[in-house]
Amino acid sequence: MQNQPPRLSDETRRAAGAKGVIARQERAAIKKEIESAKCSFFDAINDGRESIQRMRVAELLQAVPGIGARRCFLIMGKIGISPSRRIQGLGPKQLAALRKELLVIKQGVTPGALIVMSGPGGVGKSTITSVLRDHPSVWVSISATTRTPRHGERDGHDYFFITDERFDAMIGNNEFLEWAEFAGNRYGTPKEPVDDWRNLGRHVLLEIEIAGARQVRRAEPDALLVFIAPPSWEELVARLTNRGTDSPERRAARLALAQEEMAAAGEFDHTLVNTQVEAVAQSLLSLATSHQSKK
Ligand code: 5GP
Repeated sequence: MQNQPPRLSDETRRAAGAKGVIARQERAAIKKEIESAKCSFFDAINDGRESIQRMRVAELLQAVPGIGARRCFLIMGKIGISPSRRIQGLGPKQLAALRKELLVIKQGVTPGALIVMSGPGGVGKSTITSVLRDHPSVWVSISATTRTPRHGERDGHDYFFITDERFDAMIGNNEFLEWAEFAGNRYGTPKEPVDDWRNLGRHVLLEIEIAGARQVRRAEPDALLVFIAPPSWEELVARLTNRGTDSPERRAARLALAQEEMAAAGEFDHTLVNTQVEAVAQSLLSLATSHQSKK
């Protein structure tokens, strides 16, 4: 009959069984050495024995003190290592990223929380951001955008103002944590500084629109999504229509968009009502700190 496994002689079977037993013993021994800090994760990676090279990355990573199943899942997801990846299949970029992550763990820094703040236009997100910008435990992410600077805005402070070509190149190089189009311009969060600041223990704040928040939810499941709501719909309408210079069409478009944005509130982890800017900033900080310590 076809498609049947080849018949193994008793001797071959015994030899294969013995090899399997030895491989399991070697794996267990190296994990013990990592657990007791006799050997580092990277010493193990460089161990050329087949039994070690064929081990799953997740299994070895969880032997590192301070890395449990959840942290292992988060680190691998963040770096883009599939759960079934074996040591021998790790690429140089993945190894470099792992080195960075393990250094942080060794230093004993608890990574900061990733806070995503969204809400309808006119609700006061940028005022809240400007309060938190001065707080020592927070780093406010600087987005890249293709829109032109407004009066008083500074490149590298408010945004990185870049061309469409540069934006395309950043997408192509996978440099964004998320990006979206809004009112005819593109906006994106550069990924690397977000990781770096969190690894230094700072909470990172993203002030982005809703499509971007949804992408962060998928890319970083441990992000904290906070929706900023107005005290009432009437108050939001008053704020949006008092901008004076808008044409009736533009005003109607703003209100329609705000309505759509308000409908997304249920997708967020928390909603904070912006009755007082300082109080909202303080609540965001408390949420970030308790979220950080949960990990
Ligand atoms: P503005 O042009 O008024 O500064 O921003 C327009 C909208 O884009 C705001 O809702 C703001 O929160 C959002 N935004 C700013 N930076 C980013 C970003 O990096 N990604 C996404 N998705 N939205 C952003």
